[in-house]
Amino acid sequence: MQIYKVGGAVRDRLLGRAVSDIDWLVVGATVEEMQAKGFRPVGADFPVFLHPQTGEEYALARTERKSGRGYGGFTFHASPEVTLEEDLIRRDLTINAMAEDDQGNVLDPYHGQEDLEHRLLRHVSPAFAEDPLRVLRVARFAARYAPLGFQVADDTLELMRQIAASGELQALTAERSWKEIERALMEEQPQVFIQVLNDCSALQELMPELHCDADSLAALVQAAKHRQPLHVRWACLLDRVQPAAIKALNQRFKAPRECQELAVLTGEFSGRADAGMALEPSGLLEMLQKFDVYRRPQRFEDFIVTCEMRALGRGEQTYPQAEYLRGAAATARAVNVKPLVDAGLAGQALGEALKNERLKAIEAYQRR
Ligand code: ATP
Ligand code: MG
Repeated sequence: MQIYKVGGAVRDRLLGRAVSDIDWLVVGATVEEMQAKGFRPVGADFPVFLHPQTGEEYALARTERKSGRGYGGFTFHASPEVTLEEDLIRRDLTINAMAEDDQGNVLDPYHGQEDLEHRLLRHVSPAFAEDPLRVLRVARFAARYAPLGFQVADDTLELMRQIAASGELQALTAERSWKEIERALMEEQPQVFIQVLNDCSALQELMPELHCDADSLAALVQAAKHRQPLHVRWACLLDRVQPAAIKALNQRFKAPRECQELAVLTGEFSGRADAGMALEPSGLLEMLQKFDVYRRPQRFEDFIVTCEMRALGRGEQTYPQAEYLRGAAATARAVNVKPLVDAGLAGQALGEALKNERLKAIEAYQRR
C-alpha cells in the first residue's frame, strides 16, 4: 500500500501557510489490512480510519458517483484497485487535488500547482456539479485566499451558476451549509464569500434576504478587520435585514443560539443604541431589561460591539455610544435590591420598585 498526504495539507504547505490538520490517502489497501494494522474505522459505510497513535484521518482511495438528490445520494466505491488519479479527480478544486508521497514529491495530475501560481480556484472535472456544497466551498476558499489574490476561474463560476440555476442548492442540509458559512465568516475577508455566491446567483437561492452591495457588507468587513467572534460577524452580516428575514435566515441554517439571539436583538435595538445620549431613560432601561444585562452582561457587550462595527462600516470614526451604553448597563446593575427587600417589598411590588430605582439611577446617569 502507498500512503499520501492529500488535500489542504499539500495546498497550504505549497502556499507557505500553516497546516492545521493532515488528511491521508491510502492506495492499494483493503479494509481488513487497515484493521490488521490497528487503524480504527470511523464510520460503518465510509472507508475512513483513524491512525492508532496520531488519531489523524486515513481514507482509502475511492471513486464516487452521484445516485440521487442531496448528500445521501452518493455511492462510494473503495477498493485496492482505485488509483491515486481516480481518487483525486473526484475532489472539488485542482489546488485541493494534489498528493504528496513520503519523499515529499508532489503528485499533481490535475495541475493544481499551476493554478496555485495563477491564483485560480478551478474545478477538477465536470463531476464538480454533483455536490452542490462545492458552490459554498469555493466561495469559502475565495474568501480565505482573497488576500493572496485568488479568484474563481471563469469556467468554474459558470458551473457554479448552473448548479445554482438547477435548484440543487435547496437540497443541502442546514448543517452542511452552516458549517461552510461559519468557516467562511471567520476568514479574513468574509465579504468575498457573499460576493462570490452573488456572482454565481447562489446568494438568491441560499440567502435571498441579503444584499451584496458595499454598504450592506460594510459592518461585516469591520467585524473581520477587528477579529470579532462568529456571533458578532453573523449579526453584522444581517445588519440591514428586516426582523422577519433575520428569523428566517437563523432558522434556515439552524444557526447556533448565540448567533441567533445577537442577530435578532441587534435588528430590534440597534436604532436605540445609535440614538445614545438622545434616548429617553425609559427606552434605555427597557432595552437593558430586554437584554437582561443583570444576568447576561456579555450579551449586551457583544451587542455594543456589533453596533460599533456597524457604525465603523457607515464611515463613522468613533462610536461614543459604546461607552455611554456600558455606563448605563453598569448603573442599572449597581442598583441594590436589598433596601427594597428590607422595606418589606416582595413579588410584583418588588419588581416594580426595583425597576423604578433603576430608572431613577439611569436618569441621574444621563444628567451627570
Ligand atoms: P481546510 O483547510 O478548510 O480544512 P481542506 O482542503 O483540508 O481545507 P477539507 O474539508 O478538510 O478541506 O477536505 C479535505 C479534502 O477533501 C479537500 O482538500 C478536498 O480535496 C476534498 N473534499 C472535501 N470536501 C469535498 C467536497 N464536498 N467535494 C469534493 N472534494 C471535497
Ligand atoms: Mg482539512
